[in-house]
Amino acid sequence: MSESKTQKKPKRARIAIDEHFCKGCGLCVDNCPQHIISISGTVATSGYYPAQCPDPENKCTGCTLCARICPDVAIEVFKAKKVDGGAH
Ligand code: SF4
Ligand code: SF4
Repeated sequence: MSESKTQKKPKRARIAIDEHFCKGCGLCVDNCPQHIISISGTVATSGYYPAQCPDPENKCTGCTLCARICPDVAIEVFKAKKVDGGAH
């Protein structure tokens, strides 16, 4: 996989939501400090409208609040590794 170099900000973290487990309860939507999670308008095979987090502006901080609050353990958080000389 190749990564685009045209992103505005480097990705600090991202989340993966397993729509097979997500029940669309909205807890993660209400509790994300960055307000980047929403409920999809497309129903999943589970029959629920799952949460989604496209995060085009790379706002996810990797705080893990969404993953810890999810009653269905549907969210996994991936944090980017620190890169030398990245402070600014
Ligand atoms: S890890 Fe934190 S910032 Fe990222 S989506 Fe979850 S709650 Fe939001
Ligand atoms: S808290 Fe979990 S089950 Fe609820 S909408 Fe978010 S990912 Fe889905």
